[in-house]
Amino acid sequence: MNEDCIFCKIANGIIPSNTLFEDDDFRVIFDLGPATKGHALILPKKHFENIYKIDDDTAAKAFVLAKKMAAAMTKAFDSDGFNIIQNNGECAGQTVFHFHMHLIPRYKDDNAIEFWKAGQADDAELKELVKKVQENL
Ligand code: 5GP
Ligand code: ZN
Repeated sequence: MNEDCIFCKIANGIIPSNTLFEDDDFRVIFDLGPATKGHALILPKKHFENIYKIDDDTAAKAFVLAKKMAAAMTKAFDSDGFNIIQNNGECAGQTVFHFHMHLIPRYKDDNAIEFWKAGQADDAELKELVKKVQENL
């Protein structure tokens, strides 16, 4: 646990929260500034700064938990869809540097989240990108 990290304190129960789910590895809480009704966060109890730092076991468990929470929250809130968002790095919108996954129930016509503007794919560039990624796997 990182003493200076707000999500470490919430995940480990040092700061109390409305907890939707808890087990040995995770706590699921509501976001302080919800995008929609029920917007929640999956927090691992261990401190990992981001996706680059999280261990494989916790990463795998986090997505299984996201699936379980999405099903339960969709039923509970009668939502029409669901976004799972996970930001890494300041330029990608990360503001709290303890790995977390956003669980965002969506409601018809809520207009709650603005997505990216579609660019244009270039096949030569894509081939180059494939090469670069494969060199780094
Ligand atoms: P990020 O931008 O890093 O992906 O998401 C951080 C999220 O954490 C934001 O949506 C913000 O509203 C939420 N948040 C920040 N501080 C707190 C807090 O103290 N408690 C809770 N429940 N959520 C927080
Ligand atoms: Zn932390």
